[in-house]
Amino acid sequence: MLNIDLHCHSDASDGMLPPAELVTRAAACGVDVLALTDHDEVAGLPAARAAAEAVGLTLIAGVEISVSWGGQTIHVVGLRIDPLHAELAAGLEAIRLGRMERARRIGDDLARAGIPGAFAGAYACAANKQMVGRTHFARWLVAQGHATDLRSAFRRFLTRGNPGYVPHEWTTLENAVGWIRASGGIAVIAHPGRYAFDTRTTHLLLDAFRTLGGEGIEVVTGSHHPSEYGKWADLARAFGLKASRGTDFHAPGEGVEPGRVPALPHYCRPVWQGWPEIDAHLSLSLA
Ligand code: AMP
Ligand code: MN
Ligand code: MN
Ligand code: MN
Repeated sequence: MLNIDLHCHSDASDGMLPPAELVTRAAACGVDVLALTDHDEVAGLPAARAAAEAVGLTLIAGVEISVSWGGQTIHVVGLRIDPLHAELAAGLEAIRLGRMERARRIGDDLARAGIPGAFAGAYACAANKQMVGRTHFARWLVAQGHATDLRSAFRRFLTRGNPGYVPHEWTTLENAVGWIRASGGIAVIAHPGRYAFDTRTTHLLLDAFRTLGGEGIEVVTGSHHPSEYGKWADLARAFGLKASRGTDFHAPGEGVEPGRVPALPHYCRPVWQGWPEIDAHLSLSLA
């Protein structure tokens, strides 16, 4: 059985490890096939690919795109994308520019709440100066003693109703799925259990996503409680979507390690079914 982890972050977005270290750590954790899925960014992929070749891990080119849908932010993972595809690259660059404006507004809002210097602090925390996210603010807030850990930083700041929350318009679901597909990739809804949609709206989302050409949803993710796996596996089947598995690893000591979530329920149709990389990995390990 291959250990396939199709969702994780490097310091090209809000992870803590440089791409090569992430790949080495994943290999040490027993991961055979890893997708690097940085937020709105593909800059980590070349270094990750070089490291993967060195340790005999199969790397899948991925991305996690920020989308506004139904009045909320949702995330769409692209797998087996072409990071050099012009339309995808331009779309991601536009999202990162919007992120930067949002980061300044987050800093302004925290300053109004009596916490000055947050933008500069978060910016300094970000290895990739084009990708400043709320996690960088949260890490800075913890380092400054405004919160005890990342979780409480998000509970007290940066989230709706709290200082440092600014509404933001990301790209559309149509754009995200369109760019991923145009580049030859497969679109997957990330951690669907994290969104606060009622049942009817969840069904509308899955239906709209499928109609746009989306192909999968994450069933087993570090963001789902094991008691939720069955529900999402059933919904995937009901909506004709495939199932994905990923840890959403960000950093050592922050949640689950690469590869360390359960296997997909046996009746799921895995999103990686028929991928040439999987067959190639299997024949390599047999040789
Ligand atoms: P952004 O895309 O900049 O809005 O940041 C979203 C990221 O923040 C997610 O990918 C997570 O890494 C992180 N995040 C969001 N909510 C929480 C939370 N409650 N606790 C820890 N990390 C969170
Ligand atoms: Mn993140
Ligand atoms: Mn996400
Ligand atoms: Mn993620």
